Parts: sequence; structure tokens; C-alpha cells
Amino acid sequence: MQLLDGKYVSEKLKEEIAAEAAGVLATLGRKPHLVAILVGNDGGSETYVASKMRNCEKVGFKSSLFRYDDSVTENELLEKIDEINKDSGVDGLIVQLPLPKHIDPEKVTERIDYRKDVDGFHPVNLGRMMRNLPCFIPATPYGIMMILEEYKIETAGKNCVVIGRSNIVGSPMSILMARNAYPGNCTVTLTHSRTQNLKEIVLQADIIIAAIGKKNFVTADMVKPGAVIIDVGINRETSEKTKSGYKLYGDVDFENVAPKSSWITPVPGGVGLMTIVGLLKNTLASARGNIY
Ligand code: NAD
Repeated sequence: MQLLDGKYVSEKLKEEIAAEAAGVLATLGRKPHLVAILVGNDGGSETYVASKMRNCEKVGFKSSLFRYDDSVTENELLEKIDEINKDSGVDGLIVQLPLPKHIDPEKVTERIDYRKDVDGFHPVNLGRMMRNLPCFIPATPYGIMMILEEYKIETAGKNCVVIGRSNIVGSPMSILMARNAYPGNCTVTLTHSRTQNLKEIVLQADIIIAAIGKKNFVTADMVKPGAVIIDVGINRETSEKTKSGYKLYGDVDFENVAPKSSWITPVPGGVGLMTIVGLLKNTLASARGNIY
């Protein structure tokens, strides 16, 4: 078993991004600029947004955060998005999910100018991705593609089983792995909560991408020896043993699955760190005018 080390790869790619950000500053006279909107006080969202902002500073981007409490109306939020859409000094805009129940996340996603949608959730970007056109690829799948590429994982002709069909991870991941590109050219099976005989299907996989949101869901008896394992899950549990007061678990039973695998991403230290790189790469591409 060998680790697909998100810490190593993300640090390496962030150095490259920082060098390119310096080039943008020299050409445009300003830094690439990411704006985040955060609604409410969800602990996970707070952590993710803080990490995104911190990483922007690290690579020489400007970052701005607009915070609202849970009582913000949908209209107020949409008006703020309109304002940021028009601001030529902003390259990327993300609205951290989940949103309070009275705000429709689809409306919010579609209101963001697709040319600033560095999370890659807008239908225009998803449609362009389907057709291999210039677009922002959703940050987590993008990060996974980069780590596969870094370790030169063979993908052509392989059976890839994606578990979970969310709009932000599982569904785009299945499309990317099937594309005629590297990484890609896999025979992909997209599985979900209604899939029957999941274990038999996953046992056929050369590459397993788990994005379910259930701790230790993928167990060793579901894994073919030598499989490549990508664990997207981030499951937080309170813990008295850690400084932060919680511990993170993936969707894969790492302890028992790792010895059977050829390559595996740890949690933490795997896909989560690569997601940030996906977001930074998209913001850089926007600042350079690559997506129009
Ligand atoms: P989601 O909750 O939107 O979707 C979960 C998917 O799992 C659904 O499509 C559902 O059909 C499927 N599922 C549920 N039970 C199943 C079962 N018994 N068998 C097969 N499939 C089943 O999830 P999401 O937003 O894609 O997130 C999944 C996990 O990934 C979560 O833990 C989330 O925190 C994590 N996540 C991590 C990152 C990262 O950067 N590492 C980014 C996004 C999400």
C-alpha cells in the first residue's frame, strides 16, 4: 500500500500557484481575488471557509469574506451576489453550503456569474465540463484528478466505481473519470443509495471513489486486492483527545482497507487538502481570463 499524500501534493501545487499569482500581479497590477459568503455559524462551514481564506493569503491571493447570520433573506443574499458579479476586481465567488432552509441553494448557485463560479457548481460550468470545453471543474473532483495525475495512477480501461451521486462530488467525478482524457478513460459505474448489490459492484472496481458521508462505510470485504482508493468523506465526531475537540473520519475503513489497496488517500491529509487546490487553480484561471 502507498499513500496518495494530499499534504505533499497540495503543498507542491500551491508553490506553483503562488509563482503564477505573482505573474498575475505583475501583469494586472492586482492579486487574484476570491470572495466567500458565509451564512450562519455551522462549525464545519466556519472551518472550511477559514481554511480557504488562509490558503488564499498563503499563495498571494486577496480574499474577502462576507458574513450573514441565519436570518438573512434570500433576496438580500441574491443582491449581494449581483453586486459581487459586477465587481471587476473580483475573480471568484463562492457561497459556502449548506444554507438555511429558507434559502434555495439552486437559486443562489445559478445567480453567481458562471465566469466567477470557482466552485464549479453553475449549470453552465457543469455543461461545459460534459463537453470538454473551458470551464471551472468542481473543486473536489478537480483536486482528485490532480492527485491521480501527480502519482501517475493508470486509469485508461480501468473499472471505476463512484459511490455517491451528489451534484458537487459523485456525479461530476463519474463524468470526469469517463472522459476521453487523462485521468479518465475509465469504465465508470455511479452507485447511490438505491443501488442493489453494492458490495458485488464495488468488488469489481480497480478504482473506488467514496463520497457518501458515512464513517467507515467501505469495508475491506468490499475491496478487490490492489484497488486504488479515493476517500472523499469528512465525518466529524467530537473527541476529548484532540485540541480542536473533534476528530475526522473518512468513508473508508482505512485501517482494514489500506493493507489491501495499492494506493489510498488518508483522512485527514488527502482529498480535503486537494479541494482547496482545485479552488485556488480555478480562481487563478479566472484572474487570467481563461474562462469566458
Ligand atoms: P451528499 O450527502 O450530497 O450525498 C451522499 C451520496 O451518498 C448520495 O448521492 C447518496 O445516494 C449516497 N449514499 C447514501 N447512502 C448510501 C448507501 N447506503 N449506499 C450507496 N450510496 C449511498 O454527499 P456529498 O456532498 O457528496 O459528500 C459526501 C461526503 O464527502 C461527506 O462526508 C462530505 O463531508 C464529504 N465531502 C468532502 C469534501 C472534501 O473536500 N474532502 C468535499 C465535499 C464533500
